[in-house]
Amino acid sequence: MSEVAWIGLGHMGVPMAAHLVGAGHTVRGVDIDGTARRTAREAGVEPAGSVAEAVRGADVVFTMLQSGPVVEEVLTGPAGAFAHLAPGAVVVDCSTIGIDMARSLYRRAEEHGVGFVDAPVSGGVQGAEQASLTLMLGGDAVDVARVEPLLKSIGSYIVHVGASGDGQAMKVVNNAMMGISMAASCEAAVLAQRLGLDPQVFYDVVLRSSGDSWTFRNWFPLPGVVPTSPSSHGYEPGFMVDLVHKDLRLATETAEEFDVRMDVVRTAMRLFAEASESGAGKRDLTALALELGAVVRTPGERFGPLDRIA
Ligand code: NAD
Repeated sequence: MSEVAWIGLGHMGVPMAAHLVGAGHTVRGVDIDGTARRTAREAGVEPAGSVAEAVRGADVVFTMLQSGPVVEEVLTGPAGAFAHLAPGAVVVDCSTIGIDMARSLYRRAEEHGVGFVDAPVSGGVQGAEQASLTLMLGGDAVDVARVEPLLKSIGSYIVHVGASGDGQAMKVVNNAMMGISMAASCEAAVLAQRLGLDPQVFYDVVLRSSGDSWTFRNWFPLPGVVPTSPSSHGYEPGFMVDLVHKDLRLATETAEEFDVRMDVVRTAMRLFAEASESGAGKRDLTALALELGAVVRTPGERFGPLDRIA
């Protein structure tokens, strides 16, 4: 059994860490948010007061944080994880942080004799709860081999993509597609509503037609159709608007560097940026549909002709 430290016990971190607890590992966790700490404790994660306390004596450290600068903050510097880990330990970063940041952290980990694997995930909170995440790994084979048994408790498709940063490369491209299809699902749902189409019938037809996608299927943005979609739970995240905006920014920056046009991604990024600016940044990304004009109705209420002139 491994001594594990977990930094970042948010929407994804808690269910993922809980699977390691369930598999019999000792997991010490740290988060700056009190509610997150309480939820984690209820899931069997032992609370630690600081990053240094959490990682001392750990074989493997997981980070599941919002963005690259936050991961950098908790790993580097005198109070960071690298400074308090024994040589030979491995850090697994499951956050989405971009390629360059992952490679930079890999190099800085190396200076401390610590391994660093970028391991961004896909599958959402539901995938985290069901241990059915896809994990895309970048790093040295020896480190990947060491952490793979732990990752098998968290995900169902684990692939070593290549060298450091390659997991993030895969994730950047995947999430560019996810962001586009989510924005398209939101626009389509609003149009369907305006046309007076019943949301359930609209959903059932698209599911069997060419407009279907993973985001449409799992994160249908009108309430009351897909019980597990955040839209059916008051648009509570799930996956926050600010996080998909960050992912699309990473995609456009990467595309610029490699001289690739990404006009559709840029448009989706602008829509999520506007949603964030109007105060929806901490809501689930399905709330984009509300920003685009979707009307939330009481369960069972049909769309009607009034929608056409609303
Ligand atoms: P979240 O905001 O719910 O969780 C992040 C947690 O980190 C929060 O609890 C926050 O309090 C904590 N935190 C922030 N700064 C900290 C610090 N200095 N020390 C300790 N804890 C700190 O975010 P999330 O939805 O769990 O996403 C985490 C990462 O996973 C992001 O990079 C996101 O892009 C990626 N991701 C999310 C999803 C999803 O569906 N939510 C899916 C795939 C990937």
